[in-house]
Amino acid sequence: MITAIANQKGGVAKTTSTLALAGLLADEGSCLAIDLDPQGNLTTGLGIELEVGQLTSYDVITGKAKLEQAIVATASGIELLPGEISLAKVEKELMNTPDRFHVLKHQLKPYLEQVEQVVIDCPPSLGLLTINALSAADTLLIPVQCQFFALKGLQGLLETIETVRRKLNPNLKVLGVLPTMAETNTVITQEIMKILRSQLDGVRVFDPVPKSVKFPESNMAGAPIHQYTRDWKLVQPYREVMRELLMLEG
Ligand code: ADP
Ligand code: MG
Repeated sequence: MITAIANQKGGVAKTTSTLALAGLLADEGSCLAIDLDPQGNLTTGLGIELEVGQLTSYDVITGKAKLEQAIVATASGIELLPGEISLAKVEKELMNTPDRFHVLKHQLKPYLEQVEQVVIDCPPSLGLLTINALSAADTLLIPVQCQFFALKGLQGLLETIETVRRKLNPNLKVLGVLPTMAETNTVITQEIMKILRSQLDGVRVFDPVPKSVKFPESNMAGAPIHQYTRDWKLVQPYREVMRELLMLEG
């Protein structure tokens, strides 16, 4: 099962959610996390410092290396395809490659026999890297910041998903929208949840992830949230996302 985590907005907790979900999935079986963001925050967030000559998702997407050559084991139990700044060159380099929307999918295919779950952290744009993730994915999780203007921008993303379904990947399912960084037990959060649930017809809106300093702390510690804290309220929304994912898989 391949899950893309995408939203063209930055700072909505895509990377944090990828870490949280991949950590839980790795406990259940095996999970490969793919860093497709030139910022490489997922890689850093798993405590990985890239050594000189380490192959990355850039090499895989541009066909310079096979996926398994670039995979790194991490202390969390998650396998990582690391990412870094050279990913920013991919768009230009693949400009004339006819099959450029499907390179990740093709590279992943032989590896799918070796891993149960794949989670892809997308960059904050709807460019070629995100399109590659969406065309490879079975499902998409959309983190949004739990704010009144959370819906803004979501429309553009949902339209892109429709286009991807029509042209590249008819099987892509939206797993759901995950509100993040929520001020829990406040009237305003309840209002925002009501709005999200009424406006997003036919899309599951998960319970919100509470705002907590434990998240940036766990990023710095290189650990997924469930390994960092016993506070189940922080982990519970991610468990629910995992349950939904495993149910889809049937
Ligand atoms: P994105 O990948 O969408 O750009 P990040 O996952 O990097 O977003 O999150 C942006 C910032 O918000 C990071 O500093 C992260 O540690 C912090 N963050 C993420 N989730 C939470 C949360 N639930 N509570 C508090 N801070 C959070
Ligand atoms: Mg990120």
